[in-house]
Amino acid sequence: MDLTSTLERVAERARRHLTEGHVAGYIPALARVDPSRFGIAVVSVDGQVWTAGDARMPFSIQSISKVFTLTLALGKVGQSLWERIGREPSGSAFNSIVQLEREGGIPRNPFINAGAIVVTDVLLDGRPPRTTIDEILGFVRRRADDPTVAIDDEVARSESETGHRNYSLAHFLASFGRLRNPVDDALSVYFHQCALSMNCVQLARAGLFLAAGGRDPLTGEQVVAAERARRINALMLTCGHYDASGDVAFRIGLPGKSGVGGGILAVVPKRAAIAVWSPGLNANGNSHAGTIALELLADEMGWSVF
Ligand code: GLN
Repeated sequence: MDLTSTLERVAERARRHLTEGHVAGYIPALARVDPSRFGIAVVSVDGQVWTAGDARMPFSIQSISKVFTLTLALGKVGQSLWERIGREPSGSAFNSIVQLEREGGIPRNPFINAGAIVVTDVLLDGRPPRTTIDEILGFVRRRADDPTVAIDDEVARSESETGHRNYSLAHFLASFGRLRNPVDDALSVYFHQCALSMNCVQLARAGLFLAAGGRDPLTGEQVVAAERARRINALMLTCGHYDASGDVAFRIGLPGKSGVGGGILAVVPKRAAIAVWSPGLNANGNSHAGTIALELLADEMGWSVF
């Protein structure tokens, strides 16, 4: 398999749509990112790497971090996590608060903000935020097999300063007695995980264990049991793109997780992990050109799980 020319072709076609998206304006540090960037990387389970465009330029992974924190939280508390968080697509925006009231402070799934804040609370487990942030960073560095992966403190600060919606969600959860740690601690960890800065190659490498039955195929480490990897993939497919998850399953047919930084991590079971980045977002907060690129690539390679 050689994807070099395929990726060049996909990138060339996806780039035509760069001006149709809009960068996330509600986080000032993200609003400054150049909307003409586009990068894509594919890492196969046998360790080959193909790239096109700005695949080695770091960007803010934002909500894609929710895959890594979910993996860690399941490792900590196992199935009991599902007593605090649901497993259904929300059909609502990623930062929506309305369902929380109706549903007693149980977020619909771990990939919307409310669910991710509960995951963060699980990880904190009474420890200081810095310890938890270091644990997440260490895990992502190991998965990326790259100790240079870092958190962009300016992005974390920017989010914290403007994070009224996330503060509302966290206090609302706390009002239902659904958080066990101080709201400020949960949000400090949450903002820092969102501010993880990675490039497409690092991100695809970090997601590779999900394409290989929970085992890092390049180091041999069993990161999670195969059964757990299958379930994380199921959640990515059904909930990974917020209220566009159905549309993305329809168009691309791969488990994936997007972030408002314009990144998307997609998993091709048994074959590869893909990371794409283009900062312009569509109305659902998913990368516009990135989604188009994944659609073209999955189509050309026959990679849809359906
Ligand atoms: N940090 C962002 C927020 O909390 C993450 C959202 C996202 O990537 N969709 O609003």
